[in-house]
Amino acid sequence: MPVRENIEIIRTTIAEAALRSGRNPGDVRLMAVTKMVDEERIREAVACGVDIIGENYVQEAAQKIDGIGHGVEWHMIGHLQSNKAKYAVRLFNLIHSVDRVSLAEELDRRSGKAGCTTRILIEVNASGEDTKSGVAVGRAVDLVKAVAVFRNLSVQGLMAMAAWSQDPEQARGTFRAVRELRDRIIEADISGVTMKELSMGMTDEYPVAVEEGATIVRIGRAIFGERKI
Ligand SMILES: *Cc1c(COP(=O)(O)O)cnc(C)c1O
Repeated sequence: MPVRENIEIIRTTIAEAALRSGRNPGDVRLMAVTKMVDEERIREAVACGVDIIGENYVQEAAQKIDGIGHGVEWHMIGHLQSNKAKYAVRLFNLIHSVDRVSLAEELDRRSGKAGCTTRILIEVNASGEDTKSGVAVGRAVDLVKAVAVFRNLSVQGLMAMAAWSQDPEQARGTFRAVRELRDRIIEADISGVTMKELSMGMTDEYPVAVEEGATIVRIGRAIFGERKI
């Protein structure tokens, strides 16, 4: 199906899920995830009003940003190596994948050199799978406290992924755990930290994520179709 129709369906689905759970549909933003998607189709999504583009790889993102520009927000959602921090702080409006102090330290140092503040999310391994990156739920508050001391970083919330399952309901417990963690961090009242963003929900389970409090859903295949490898 064409990108425009797909985006319309997703927007309707997000709004319905928000209303079902007593939320304002306007509090949920749609990110188009564009790994392996060419510039022309990204432009189509932008023409439909999508204003957040999510990329997994720094180099791929740099090329696309060169072509498409900063009229939209570019978010980093993939695993970030510390040696790419230098580029990441210049390219991205929000980095979703900060899961260790050493990476935060390097992002802070590079932000200082670039004279900017970098907005970040803490990636949480809420499903507990070995294969997933992210800080364990039990260590997340300590990581947020450790990252909060870096003056050139601004913690804006949490990012998480659910375990893959055929049944979207299986993701609910994971998303709920992330929201509850968010609430505990708010209660801890850590200086300089805000928890306004919950980045969670992908093609297979984003309605459940919205019901559980997502503020950014990250969607690739439901917009652009299956990725060709
Ligand atoms: C690829 C990816 C997505 C989008 O996944 P879809 O299933 O295509 O919607 C979202 N978040 C992250 C971190 C990804 O790597």
